[in-house]
Amino acid sequence: MARLAIAAGNWKMNKTVEEASEFAEAFLSLSPNTSDIEIILCPPYVSLYPLSQKLAQTGIKLAAQNCHWETKGAFTGEISVPMLKAVQCQYVICGHSERRHIFGETSEDIGKKVKTVIYFGLNPILCVGETLEEREAGQTEAVVFDHLSKGIVNLSKEEALSLVVAYEPVWAIGTGKAATPQDAHQVISYLRQQLAKQFDKETAEKIRILYGGSVTPENIYNFMKDPDIDGSLVGGASLDPAKFNKIILESLRASQ
Ligand code: PEP
Repeated sequence: MARLAIAAGNWKMNKTVEEASEFAEAFLSLSPNTSDIEIILCPPYVSLYPLSQKLAQTGIKLAAQNCHWETKGAFTGEISVPMLKAVQCQYVICGHSERRHIFGETSEDIGKKVKTVIYFGLNPILCVGETLEEREAGQTEAVVFDHLSKGIVNLSKEEALSLVVAYEPVWAIGTGKAATPQDAHQVISYLRQQLAKQFDKETAEKIRILYGGSVTPENIYNFMKDPDIDGSLVGGASLDPAKFNKIILESLRASQ
């Protein structure tokens, strides 16, 4: 069955509110196609509300880059899922490798986040991926299995339908060294098999799995030609409206 493609732009800790607004204006002037692909912008928290105003009725969706699993309380510096929902956020990135490796988030923490995101009716983008050391030690499948299985540990089949998974090899993020489409295919089809084991084949066929790691307007076509790769999570190249729009156009060209 055909899964609607996704192009998600993770801005990480980039752009002030004013710069985010300038991006939105420039991006909208390119008339991005929002009917055949889901376009998701993941700005820093402070830009979610202003962008929700700018992007209302455009079909472009918003994601947060993180959240806390609790609803409210004494968690200084954290943001809850109901707060994100109140600013029209529909997606939340959970377990980005920078959260795992720089901030020490565990797969157990990430599993709690995924569960809370779905509980409040939003969609988690669960990131999984191995480091170069792990790949070279032949541990890629074991690592992504650990990230995936602990990320989805508490989900029912119905809840799993809200899930998006992003395979992001750590060695490819921000390095300019993207995985080959063949590498991405291998891991993504392994992830889909694991989803089928955990839920069932029908559910696994409905869950979108993205590739992320040095995606560019030049290389996205070959990733999107692979029927198992349902879209991209883009860091650096999503900061530029023209480049991000080119990634969208190339994703659509690959699906024709
Ligand atoms: C990311 O931030 O998830 C990412 C894949 O970054 P980049 O595209 O810059 O490698």
